[in-house]
Amino acid sequence: MVIVGGGIAGLAAAFFLRGEPVRVTVLEGSPRLGGKLSVSEVAGIAVDEGAEALLVRRPEGTGLIRDVGLGDQLVTPGTTSSAIWTRDAMRPLPRRQFMGVPADLADDGDLARSGVLSPEGLARARQDLDLPATPRDGDTAVAAYVGARFGDEVVERLVDPLLGGVYAGRSEDLSFEATLGPLAAAAPAHRSLSGAVTSLLPAAGEPGADPPTRPAVFTTLSGGLGALPAAVAEASGAVIRTRATVRELARTATGWRLTVGSAAAPEEITADAVVLALPARPAARLLGGVPGTSAAAAALGGIEYASMAIVTLAYPRSRVPAIRDAVAQGAPRSGYLVPAVEKRAVKAVTFSTVKWPHLVRATAATGATEPVDLIRCSIGRIGEEGVLQRDDRELADLAAADLAEATGAQGDPLDSRVTRWGGGLPQYTVGHLDRIAAIRAGVDAQPGLAVCGAAYDGLGIPACIATARTAAERTLGYLRARSRPAV
Ligand SMILES: Cc1cc2nc3c(=O)[nH]c(=O)nc-3n(C[C@H](O)[C@H](O)[C@H](O)COP(=O)(O)OP(=O)(O)OC[C@H]3O[C@@H](n4cnc5c(N)ncnc54)[C@H](O)[C@@H]3O)c2cc1C
Repeated sequence: MVIVGGGIAGLAAAFFLRGEPVRVTVLEGSPRLGGKLSVSEVAGIAVDEGAEALLVRRPEGTGLIRDVGLGDQLVTPGTTSSAIWTRDAMRPLPRRQFMGVPADLADDGDLARSGVLSPEGLARARQDLDLPATPRDGDTAVAAYVGARFGDEVVERLVDPLLGGVYAGRSEDLSFEATLGPLAAAAPAHRSLSGAVTSLLPAAGEPGADPPTRPAVFTTLSGGLGALPAAVAEASGAVIRTRATVRELARTATGWRLTVGSAAAPEEITADAVVLALPARPAARLLGGVPGTSAAAAALGGIEYASMAIVTLAYPRSRVPAIRDAVAQGAPRSGYLVPAVEKRAVKAVTFSTVKWPHLVRATAATGATEPVDLIRCSIGRIGEEGVLQRDDRELADLAAADLAEATGAQGDPLDSRVTRWGGGLPQYTVGHLDRIAAIRAGVDAQPGLAVCGAAYDGLGIPACIATARTAAERTLGYLRARSRPAV
């Protein structure tokens, strides 16, 4: 069996096939395994370049980490309390919300106290309590539905920045059903949308509702999530090849033929079964050569991707007053989000060394005298590719200038790193769930073919791993049913 793509989905699929009577080969096009998971040093500290936090609520991520022997490296965040930089101030992100959709609209509630909304915006948000239920006939855009309930400010200053942090997308395009699934499912049973959000949260005073009983939402690995791919690859026992770009996929009388490598020196590999663990566009290109999959290939090829860059800056703690003072006062924040309406280059900032205290140390970069703060700045939303045309130096300067204004960071950073994620994040736009159903119907009709990865059922790592398990089980089931030794 061949798995195309050596990101976390492809490697997890290989891992789920370990111990089975199947010879598994993973073909990764780039020189490095891991896709969006990658770690390297800034100011002498290993810190993630791509994904950096793993949702604990879903078991697939932590389960895989434990299964490959990295369980002792799981660490918990120092804080997850975050802020929104809006209306000329850093304002606390209300706690009682679901992806920014508020639960608590009371006069003295956490939304009112946060100051994120103007008095008019708050008054409009409260109309959610009095408006008749908003009917939903099929999927709709997040902004349209949430905006109808709470008005534009909730969309622009809360929901859009939170969705932007995950998808680098815009709430006016993103699917309510695909990106806020649990809320979309709960909404019909409630007249108000804040009531539906309340039904998803632990009741105030219940365990888990408030700090300190609130369990950690995220975890990571002490060596960075970028350490996971190599461990999964090794534990899988699969044959792993890098610099092995698959250019064509074709059906044969007995299975599949893959064309690998350059057009000048192509290599042909045959397989009984194939898993495509690829972003949507390369998956669509490969499917395009398989008769009977044109509708699935077209649906896949239509999934848009947002490009972005992560700029990681290092400062001595004494030179970032917002972090230094908050830590000294025992009220640190993990970072802040910036609504698109604020028209700033940086859309989200993570104080990595505050969020993940295991990263805090004095290094040679500070003469080993004081801790280094690592600050991760996220730049670029869908439709804003222009800002990414700048060179690395300019992007780092842009991030540092924004940071200086937001946090009082003084002087030049000790070190910086710019990581570009061109086409990094799939956009789950309106109709995504129907598109995915059509893709799966087309792929499932092909014997011994499966797809997995971030394009389908969630772009978080646990969701990618879940699709990998399904793909591994499907192809294994097919090979067993063929009841002849698999290759
Ligand atoms: C900047 C950033 C931050 C993120 N932060 C988080 C986070 O904190 N938490 C979280 O849960 N998720 C996060 N995500 C999302 C998550 O990291 C990704 O959705 C997930 O890692 C995708 O895994 P994948 O295996 O589906 O795809 P990828 O990681 O894209 O892997 C696909 C692989 O296929 C290879 N490939 C492509 N074409 C071919 C071909 N023709 N032949 C062979 N190989 C090919 C690519 O080189 C790549 O290695 C983040 C994503 C980004 C970009």
